[in-house]
Amino acid sequence: MSEHLTTVAGVAVDTRHWIGGERVASAATFTDHSPIDGSVLGEIARGTAAEAGAAVAAAKAAFPAWAATSREERARLLHAVADGVERRLEDLAVVETADNGALLRSHRRGVMPRVAHNFRFFADWLLKLDHADFDTRGHSNHVSWDPAGPCVLITPWNAPLMLATWKVAPALAAGNTVVLKPAEWSPLTASLLAEIAAEAGLPAGVLNVVQGLGSEIGDALTSHPDVRRISFTGSVPTAKHIAASAAANLTPLSLELGGKSPLLVFADADLDLAVDLAVEQYDNAGQVCLAATRLLVEESVAEEFTRRFVEKAALLKQGDPRDEATGLGPNIHPRQLEKIDGFVQRAVAAGARAVIGGHRRDGQYYAPTLLTDVAQDSEIVQEEVFGPVLTLQTFGGEDEAVRLANDTRFGLAATVATGDPERARRVTGHLVAGTVWVNCFFVRDLRAPFGGSRHSGVGREGGTWSFDFYCDLKNTVTSPKGWKDHG
Ligand code: NAD
Repeated sequence: MSEHLTTVAGVAVDTRHWIGGERVASAATFTDHSPIDGSVLGEIARGTAAEAGAAVAAAKAAFPAWAATSREERARLLHAVADGVERRLEDLAVVETADNGALLRSHRRGVMPRVAHNFRFFADWLLKLDHADFDTRGHSNHVSWDPAGPCVLITPWNAPLMLATWKVAPALAAGNTVVLKPAEWSPLTASLLAEIAAEAGLPAGVLNVVQGLGSEIGDALTSHPDVRRISFTGSVPTAKHIAASAAANLTPLSLELGGKSPLLVFADADLDLAVDLAVEQYDNAGQVCLAATRLLVEESVAEEFTRRFVEKAALLKQGDPRDEATGLGPNIHPRQLEKIDGFVQRAVAAGARAVIGGHRRDGQYYAPTLLTDVAQDSEIVQEEVFGPVLTLQTFGGEDEAVRLANDTRFGLAATVATGDPERARRVTGHLVAGTVWVNCFFVRDLRAPFGGSRHSGVGREGGTWSFDFYCDLKNTVTSPKGWKDHG
């Protein structure tokens, strides 16, 4: 077996970059560990500016032919990629679980089918995109969606392939070529995607994958003058760095960042539903950007809500994410675990009370935690923890609920539990968030815009908004008679 192949859960994964239709090694590697048991999964190519440059050059070389490929043919190839994802669904699911520790059953039944859907959806949406035409005093305006050029797509570890393909699919559908840089804590399924795309017939250089540490390879990608779009999902500090790096070339950016989203529970809500929504926030061990980590509960039902919440959370089985019965897996990395515990211990030192949890468990696991007695301006209420840690605060009425909900620097999502449709309409109208759910959570439709306000992001992707970002819109005005005749 090649020194560049590693076997993860029985699946062979190439650990090199994928550039211009070929595997490319780097002089150095970094070690990828499984969060399940800390075992080594592979030695991954540690990219440098040289490989970043080669990948952008490959994307640039492949761009003219791919941009000139008909919409129908691009759509056909994206459907072929989706077919490949479906054929290798089990491989992708087991490798992703080994690599990022999220539940295997979710990868099998939800996440990997969504990966295939990402390709199918944007392929179909491409065929529906209108070229707007309108008339100005006898002159025709023709608005076209022109491909922009090579795109750099940088993604995090919490939902690696789902978030990567949510960008790769529309970027390719739009006629752009791509350099994908997955997160160093979960690099493996991007490598499998490159394989699947090549087998589906995607021409060399249209999709490139570079591996490496963001701090080492990132700048060479984001400051490259040939890159025409950067789409990034990740943390706020990295986003600020990328924005500064992209500024040199005024490269357009789409930023999908963190959150500190609220769940507002009104006294008129179905309390069992509200509790279900709250416990759901421990999904993926709390490593979900959209997670409603601030529970805001109306005073009159707070005690009963807390009692039912504690009962329900106690049913969550924490353990190996490959077991069907597990509800809560490990956290991604020892550094992330330390970060989570740091937040909790500082909160407790500042006066917070852990109703449940508040400590690590053996291995890379953190006990699901609920903290009360937290001040609105405290770190634990204002900053994203990205672990299974929720806070609970109470409010007296609608105005206070909205004020607390909006009082962070984020604005990614908000969830409202209420039995009163009029209240729902009033409250949602005042919430600052890219997505608001009423009596539900995590219902996503790819036709809808997705993104965050304030420090949760810049721009929206999804449906036509994705094509808006990944295309250069052009208006061509033609006079049938010649301009001088215009009168
Ligand atoms: P991160 O910012 O540390 O890393 C994200 C990616 O950026 C990785 O691929 C990393 O290698 C790369 N990177 C790091 N430094 C870079 C640099 N200087 N230049 C270019 N790239 C660089 O984030 P993370 O810890 O991997 O992800 C967790 C964060 O992502 C959380 O804040 C979470 O809320 C956010 N997130 C947001 C969404 C969303 O859709 N809004 C979805 C998932 C995660």
